[in-house]
This record gives sequence, structure tokens and C-alpha cells, in this order.
Amino acid sequence: MIDNFDFNNPVKLLFGAGKLNELGNHVKPLGDRCLLVTTGNFFVATGLVKRIQGILANSGIETVVYTEVSPNPLDEEVDSAAALAKHNDCDFIIGLGGGSSIDAAKGVAMAAGHDCPVWRFAMGTHDDAIEPTERTLPIVAIATTSGTGSHVTPYSVITNKQTKQKPGIGSEYLFAKVAVVDPELALSLPKEITASTGFDVLAHALEAYTCNISNVMTDLYAKEAIKLVGQNLVKAVADGTDLQARTAMAMADTYAGYAIAGSLVTLCHAIAHAVGGVSETVHGQTLAALTPHTVEFSMNQNPDKFKTVGLLLTGRSEEDLANFKLTETVAALRSLIAAIGMDIPLSEQGVTTTDLAEIAKGTTEYMGGIAEADVRPASFDDVMQILTKAF
Ligand code: NAD
Repeated sequence: MIDNFDFNNPVKLLFGAGKLNELGNHVKPLGDRCLLVTTGNFFVATGLVKRIQGILANSGIETVVYTEVSPNPLDEEVDSAAALAKHNDCDFIIGLGGGSSIDAAKGVAMAAGHDCPVWRFAMGTHDDAIEPTERTLPIVAIATTSGTGSHVTPYSVITNKQTKQKPGIGSEYLFAKVAVVDPELALSLPKEITASTGFDVLAHALEAYTCNISNVMTDLYAKEAIKLVGQNLVKAVADGTDLQARTAMAMADTYAGYAIAGSLVTLCHAIAHAVGGVSETVHGQTLAALTPHTVEFSMNQNPDKFKTVGLLLTGRSEEDLANFKLTETVAALRSLIAAIGMDIPLSEQGVTTTDLAEIAKGTTEYMGGIAEADVRPASFDDVMQILTKAF
């Protein structure tokens, strides 16, 4: 663990039930017109988009709406939304939804701000890639899932169907200026999405905590997130109307976001992104299929930390470390995955045997930077073995 480090998280966070109502005053300095980006018509149908338009109008802000974003946003959708933002002279971009909407908003902010396709910024995937600059439009995130932490991370994950790649673009310009985490907005999340996004929170915290660039600050956030997931994820899945559990998961999501923003995810996410490039899987489900196997692969390289994950997840004291076995951490993970209905092998998520080699290649090539943050380096053959076990 590193105790000499930089930590930068410039996001103004508005956290708590009812916080959405305060949005107008906080974003007024960003301009008079914005583009709101969201995945499909769900929030139009529930009236949430209209409510936000009203809140912004009270502060003199006009809102243009783009609803054509897919879960796992595509570069071409981001480019269409960027054209709309430019056409309407939008000053800033709002992402309303889960990671897909927020990441799409970040993509729009880059593409519209620099007047180029978003794929130009897909570092690691082609030689002409460029870094985002201060021309990136201001970003506002309104989180409605407790999953990706994107509202407080400097990352945007965009999928390209042609190249079958799903890289994460990282830049300090991708931090939101303002993030709203109002747990009341998550009350409408169905069970399966609560479960899959909730597992993403755990994967972030676990990976940020065990990776080779974790530091004392990211460890604090990661450990607290793991504890909160252990206490609340099953409750939130069992009863989606439990505002206390929703609030705790929203807090865990935000803590895990701080952890990955200051540290990094590892091999499991590198593989999951490569899976997402070749097959339209649900991100959190893919992580749940992979995590027990990637943990088994890496845990002997950092045993105390992997044991601590198991202790925190099961509500035991860290003082029990000496009496705790690494296999108990794997068992705790498997038991949580089963309890939230996420024990779904990759073969049942639409991944085919012929995809496996392409996924392993993507993991070790364009996702190599993330894979290298793992305490154990993984070769193509190692990834093939993990994929075969998770299949
Ligand atoms: P998502 O944004 O894809 O949403 C999943 C589904 O839930 C969508 O259909 C959405 O419309 C619906 N939904 C969202 N909120 C809802 C609500 N309150 N009620 C009912 N339905 C709701 O899911 P996600 O897991 O939040 O995001 C996944 C994406 O984020 C992936 O592309 C993943 O790779 C990416 N990601 C990004 C980061 C980051 O730091 N930027 C980190 C991890 C993952």
C-alpha cells in the first residue's frame, strides 16, 4: 500500500433524499442551456425528466433532451447527441441515469467540446487517439443506480460495435462539476438491476483495495464500501422500497467511486470490459461471474487484503485476520452472489465459446493498462483459464 500519493476529487457532491430539488442553483454558473442525456424513455414516462426540466427552468436554464443512449453506450449514439448539443449551443451536459447515461454525457462533453467523434479519445485502441482537454464541456451527473460510481470518477466507458472494443477513457476533465445522488431516484430500480449494479460497487471496492496502486485514502473508502455492501445489498434487492438500504448502497457506490478514482480497478474489470466489447452483457452480471475466479487467481499475492475483504463483507472484525482463510473470502463472495441471484455463468449471458479467445486478447491488449494494476500479472492463457471457469 502506498502512503505517499496525490488524491484529487473535484466533484461537488449533493447527497441525500430530496437533494435533486437543489440542482438549479448549483448548475446555474455552468450556463443557460444544457443537453440532458438518458437511456431510453423510462424517465420521460415516470415524469422525472419533466421534473428536472422544471427545476432547471426555475433557475433560468433551458433543457434539450436526448433519450437514444443504449445501456453500454455506443460511440455513434454519443456522436449524435454531441451534434444535438452543438446545434442547440448547449453550455453543459447532464447525464441522468446509471453509468451508461453518465458515461454517455461525458462522451458528449468531449465530442461536442472538441468538435470530433468521441472515438478520437479512445486511448489504447488506435494510434490517433488524443487526450481530452479543457475544451471538454462541463458535466453534471444525476445518478439513479448504485453501481458504477461514474458520478465521482474521471472515467467514461464507451463501446464501439465495429471494432468490438469497450475501453475506459480516463481524464481529469471527465470529473463531473456537480453530482446528485438522491437515493429516492433509485427506488424504481428493478431487483435484477439493483443486484447487478450493487455487485459492481463491490467489485470496484474489492479491486481498488487489492490493486497494486491502492493508497491509505482509497483503502478507507474501499473498506467502508465493502462493509456497506455486506450489510445492505441483500436488503436492497429483497425490498427495493427500503430507503435506508438504498441510501447505504448509494453511499457505498460513491465511496467505491472515490476508491477507483484514486486507485484503479484490476484484472476482473479488464476482462469484463473485453467481454462487453464482444457481447452485450450486463456489466455487473459479468463481474459476478468472473470475480470468484479472478480473486482465486490473485489472492495469494496479497493475502491479508483479500482476507480483509471477506471479513468486512461478512461483518467480522479485522482482528480475526489470523483465524480467517482466503477460501472463506471466496465462499463469502459466492454466497453473496447466490443471495442476490447473480450466479449466472458467462454462457448464460450471451457469451459463446468462440468469443473467449477474442476476450482474452482484448484483456491483455487494449485493456492491458488496467490488467497491470492487478497484484498478479495475467497472460493470455491465464485469462483463457479464468474465462473457461466462469463460462
Ligand atoms: P445502466 O446505466 O446501463 O442502466 C441499466 C438499466 O437500468 C438501463 O436500462 C436504465 O435505463 C435502467 N435504470 C437506471 N436507473 C433506473 C432507475 N432508477 N429505475 C429504473 N430503471 C433504471 O447501468 P449501470 O450499471 O449503472 O452502468 C453500466 C455502464 O457503466 C457500463 O457501460 C459500464 O461499463 C459503465 N461503468 C462506468 C464506470 C465509470 O467510472 N465511468 C465504472 C463502472 C462501469
